[in-house]
Amino acid sequence: MPKIPDEVVKRVTDAARIEDVVGEFVTLRKAGVNLTGLCPFHDDKTDGNFIVRPSSIPEKRHGNTYRCFVCDAKGGAVQFLMKAEHMSFPDAIRWLGRKYSIDVDNAPLNWTPPPPRPKPAPLPVLEIPRPYVGRTMEIATERTVVFVYWLRGLPWDEEQRARLQQTLWIYCVGGWRDGRVVFWQIDHLGIPRSAKLMKYLPNGHRDKTQHPGWIYNQEGVRQRLDPDKHEIIKPLFGSHLLNRYPKAVINIVESEKTAIIMANYYGDFDSQIWLACGGLKHLQLDSLQPLIDQGRTIWLWPDKDGRDAWQEVSDKLGYDKCRVYTHFFDTCWTEADGDKADIADIAIRMMTTGEKPRQSREVTGDHGKSRDITGEGQGATDQYAAARLYHGATLPPKPDDVTDEEWAEHLAIMKAIGDYEIIHPGDDPFLPEDEIIDPRLRMWREILRRAYQGKRKK
Ligand SMILES: [Zn+2]
Repeated sequence: MPKIPDEVVKRVTDAARIEDVVGEFVTLRKAGVNLTGLCPFHDDKTDGNFIVRPSSIPEKRHGNTYRCFVCDAKGGAVQFLMKAEHMSFPDAIRWLGRKYSIDVDNAPLNWTPPPPRPKPAPLPVLEIPRPYVGRTMEIATERTVVFVYWLRGLPWDEEQRARLQQTLWIYCVGGWRDGRVVFWQIDHLGIPRSAKLMKYLPNGHRDKTQHPGWIYNQEGVRQRLDPDKHEIIKPLFGSHLLNRYPKAVINIVESEKTAIIMANYYGDFDSQIWLACGGLKHLQLDSLQPLIDQGRTIWLWPDKDGRDAWQEVSDKLGYDKCRVYTHFFDTCWTEADGDKADIADIAIRMMTTGEKPRQSREVTGDHGKSRDITGEGQGATDQYAAARLYHGATLPPKPDDVTDEEWAEHLAIMKAIGDYEIIHPGDDPFLPEDEIIDPRLRMWREILRRAYQGKRKK
């Protein structure tokens, strides 16, 4: 038999509705927007594993497909017939042709397909009523939300502890009745778009046995919001702070937990805010667009294993105010932190030991070899390393009113940002803020200045 023309195949597959096709072989019942029945591909005893996503659901949300979550069989109408009824591809097309009254083998040559059906109107973007946010935040003030309870127990210093509640409120961290934390995804215009619900253990680690949940899928919420009739967008966690802090540098980390910890660790939202994308693979170009539109300075803080991936994102972005920032790991990570440590783990370890985050632990030698700087003489070696990064300049003199410790710290910071030409050797470490152009440098200076003034007062 002659080959079935491609255009006929397309006509047939466009006409096929998975629910009708599977329904001829499997008894299906409604389960929410889906249909379910016993899987024909494995010895299935309970329905619920085999799901049919009806053709009314948009294709990009896996409409018009079937899937079994036990044996992982999946596909569309043609694949179903081939697998369930052992049909060849042409026979599956013929079978569907008969069902949908399309004469597959006698299709007229040069048949012109009817004009494509107009695309369905785009779905409205899901907008979650604002009172939902407030309600979850009320729950978060109770002791039942494990993550918040754990967060309060961290070894914050006095200032950090004093602002923790404010940080939680600014980030709209909420709770769910079952003790999960709710991380809202509110866009830069202040519209809640989604929220991620996560279960944490009392040790601050995520309960990996449970997938994160989404607010629109929760009992009682799903019925009201009807997510299947909406487009769902997921702004970066913390996006609602963009307009509130228009001058802040944007730091982006993987996890929401890290963003909250780092935000509270440093405070000072006017100069820096922390956003989270939700995971290594979730840093998407389109979620960065609002930041680029605002001309914001973006630093990407990947976890230890995410540098290459995020460098790639940054390269693709081609936005000259976006950089991958690895200094924190380069200088603060120790063997004891382990390869899985993220920035927050290290920050917590340093809070516990009272270690300063900006202290250099390791410098790269002339031939790219690393060596440990420990014990005595650390300051001096650091200064040497920092000096080499001043583009060959000699080490600037230490101002009289700065202690050795503070000066070593300043040089470590200079080392971190030494690839920028604008750093002038011999600068007083505490120039007035407005003289510094690079926002990254401005941020560090501001932090340092305040730490320095804090010490002066004592
Ligand atoms: Zn199955």
